[in-house]
Amino acid sequence: MSAKVPQALPWLAPIWQRLSNQIQDNRLGHALLFLGQEGLGKRVMLREFAQQLLCLDASPARNSGPCGQCASCHLFNAGSHPDLFMVEPEEAGKQIKIDQIRKVTDFVNTTPQKGNHKVVLLGPAEAMNINASNALLKSLEEPSSKTTLLLYSHQPGSLLATIKSRCQLYSVYTPPWQQALNWLEQNSQQTRLESALRLAKGAPLKAIDLMEGEVHVQYMQFCQDMIDLQQAKANWSATLTKWKAWDSHWVMMWFYELVLDVQKIQAGLTQDTLAIQELQGQTAQVAKVSQYGQVQTLLDKLLDNQKAQLSQSNPNPVLIIETLLIDWLSLLGQSGQRI
Ligand SMILES: [Zn+2]
Repeated sequence: MSAKVPQALPWLAPIWQRLSNQIQDNRLGHALLFLGQEGLGKRVMLREFAQQLLCLDASPARNSGPCGQCASCHLFNAGSHPDLFMVEPEEAGKQIKIDQIRKVTDFVNTTPQKGNHKVVLLGPAEAMNINASNALLKSLEEPSSKTTLLLYSHQPGSLLATIKSRCQLYSVYTPPWQQALNWLEQNSQQTRLESALRLAKGAPLKAIDLMEGEVHVQYMQFCQDMIDLQQAKANWSATLTKWKAWDSHWVMMWFYELVLDVQKIQAGLTQDTLAIQELQGQTAQVAKVSQYGQVQTLLDKLLDNQKAQLSQSNPNPVLIIETLLIDWLSLLGQSGQRI
């Protein structure tokens, strides 16, 4: 039986091959850190890799995937393998706490129960706060020959340099656009795949997530609303009321991308580099009628908003979005009042 994930998610095949070669040559480190944007399948790949490391069928040909049949694979598939320790935020978007990392240290110091190996799978690593990161350094500095630590991160920039320097690093690349689009065509019944893929920054699994949730539908609605507002076909306050029900993080990001798109056009880049293709008519118009300085001021404002959101200083997102809309329409030479 060969590995499932690199077949199902073909952009992961090269990295899987690299891991397989390293096992074969006995060059696999004790701590591996996988870096790449969210929505590429890092976690699901590492789960299968963990299963392979724990698999009791040690035949050399097996490095193409776990056997799926031994006692260890059965336990793994049942979700109750005693030699696998998963560390994730208790709730999505929350931190990995220092108590969870202390349990990692304890786990590393125990004897394997099924075979002669144990695996820790931890991520996203950026969810660890500074105390949790420092606590993990101990396990990274004093490796146990019987434990492999598998870490993944969607935001490598937010990791401690000392964490990165103690791990073998693996970059998980976003697949080329056409490969990602072909994959989506084979794996999704939805329409407007290109727009979802752009929204997901080219990460195919993220695109699927966005299409299955509400975000992609809201995005399409946002684009339509912007066009309607510009043509005075939509009611200003009704539009804002509708947007109020959405996750403000996304709406702010769309505005941010729009303004960046304007700068791209002003800098002489071509239309195909725009993030929000659906509004390229508006973008081109704003680029034509506005000064670079005005656009930069709006961009600075958007960056300040992002910082305020990250620091959770509790800004009023509805008010911010309303202001952004006014600013955008005034760049277009319109005011909100006339609608
Ligand atoms: Zn097995």
